[in-house]
Amino acid sequence: MIHALTPIAHKLDKVHEFISHLMSQVWCAGGPWDESRLYSDFVGLVKALDAEPNRTKKVMPRLKHLHDLFSALSEPQRRWLRIKFYVNNNVPDLCCGNLLSPARYSDIEKSSPDLAKELHSFFDDLYSDLLVSALVKRTYGCRRDHYKAFMGAQSVKTCPACGMRDLLTEDNTPVGAYDHFLPKGIYPFNSINFKQLVPICDICNGKYKTTKDPLYRDSASRKAFHPFVAPTVAIGIQVGLPGPLIDEAKAEEIELKFTSGNQQDEVDTWAWLYGIEEQYRSFANENGKHWAKQIINFSNRPGQKSTRECYEDHIATYKDQPLRDQHFLRVPFLEECERVGVFN
Ligand SMILES: [Zn+2]
Repeated sequence: MIHALTPIAHKLDKVHEFISHLMSQVWCAGGPWDESRLYSDFVGLVKALDAEPNRTKKVMPRLKHLHDLFSALSEPQRRWLRIKFYVNNNVPDLCCGNLLSPARYSDIEKSSPDLAKELHSFFDDLYSDLLVSALVKRTYGCRRDHYKAFMGAQSVKTCPACGMRDLLTEDNTPVGAYDHFLPKGIYPFNSINFKQLVPICDICNGKYKTTKDPLYRDSASRKAFHPFVAPTVAIGIQVGLPGPLIDEAKAEEIELKFTSGNQQDEVDTWAWLYGIEEQYRSFANENGKHWAKQIINFSNRPGQKSTRECYEDHIATYKDQPLRDQHFLRVPFLEECERVGVFN
């Protein structure tokens, strides 16, 4: 990621705690179904939801049905699911490749297709239905409240994936979407874990990342930057231009290389996940010529320094604030302009 996000604690996290307890102490523990084994606050919430006149999918019967499906498994299978619940929710360690492999719905399908299907539907509904219900909102807040509190805690409010586009902030009336960093269509158990819900821009989310899995590519596991953990070394961006006539350069002639001190796997995953090479090439082609002309025009003002001196002044200023106005890309682009003679 171009920059790391700052996590927050929010009372909406409590709903994920309910589910954590449900998994470990009820479903995976086996034994007869008994509502009193659930958190009492959760029982109250579920009963209130089920009393809503328009609710077609009653929650408590679904919890019991899932309990029955878990109970039909062997004890080692339930133990495996309990472990995978914690693995799937420990996203920072999964990104580092430090943990056991996560469970996917396709893994659960092998032992119980019905359970995989019901869990998929349940965890999808937790995010799209439960978290936006008026009842949850009254006690724990809603996704909208969480988003505003989250953005209020961020010092940098651009998309952490591309770094180029501004996110909606706490001062906007509408709120931005959360991306499930581990796609909720692939991974069970973490659909309402806000430690893996990430506001990124609509282009990175809907056009590039879509349903890509950050942990695997062509079935090979890979490391990834966790959105809440800063890279140990800032990502290095190298730009290559075909020559000094940048007005005539085509996007495909701009070369880009991304490097990192000791996290090259993570950098490669990031670039692949968000189509960064294509995004930056397109952006640099559209804006790079204006970045260079700005310096040339500035140096042409009466009494100004030489173009070379103006270039050095601008670069020094941009380096002071690499996350502002795409400076992290502007600096290597202008350095390449200088190398190929644009400022001669
Ligand atoms: Zn983005």
